[in-house]
Amino acid sequence: PEVRELLLSRITDVVDYPKPGVVFKDITPLLADPKAFGALTDTLVELAGRYGATKIVGLEARGFILAAPVAVKAGIGFIPVRKAGKLPGATLAQAYELEYGTAEIEVHAEDLSAGDRVMVIDDVLATGGTAEASLELIRRAGAEVAGVAVLMELSFLPGREKLSGALAGAPLDAL
Ligand code: IMP
Repeated sequence: PEVRELLLSRITDVVDYPKPGVVFKDITPLLADPKAFGALTDTLVELAGRYGATKIVGLEARGFILAAPVAVKAGIGFIPVRKAGKLPGATLAQAYELEYGTAEIEVHAEDLSAGDRVMVIDDVLATGGTAEASLELIRRAGAEVAGVAVLMELSFLPGREKLSGALAGAPLDAL
């Protein structure tokens, strides 16, 4: 509860960003506060242990910022899931629906394999489309989904519901 309050106090609402009608959750004040950022990464490291994770996947771009220190502190590998066209090696790609149109994410195929238990980290779970696509990538790579952890879940959107099938019983934690 204490950590939750600290984290909440370092997240700001930016009205009408990136477009009118949207309230954007800005985590840059949290990143700039070493106490809050440290508490966040410590909590995620603890979750990684609870999940029994052997790999940490971060979702571009803010997911990278959170996932990288967690992977280092937990002593396990960090794997970037990137927007299409950014990874130089052989990739697996997964398309998903946006409000208008579609997007695609990729992972290096050789980074994940059978026997891996993967924890996915991102800053915000909104519609759940990005996280859902990442879980499909992980399974297609032959690895197992150990759990998904996000800093924030926008509970007025059905992201958790949308993700439930892809989670297949794995935990979803919103800090
Ligand atoms: P979803 O695919 O609709 O769940 O959107 C999640 C993705 O969009 C995440 O990678 C987030 O980083 C980003 N996102 C959506 N809403 C916000 C927000 O309010 N603040 C920061 N990132 C957001």
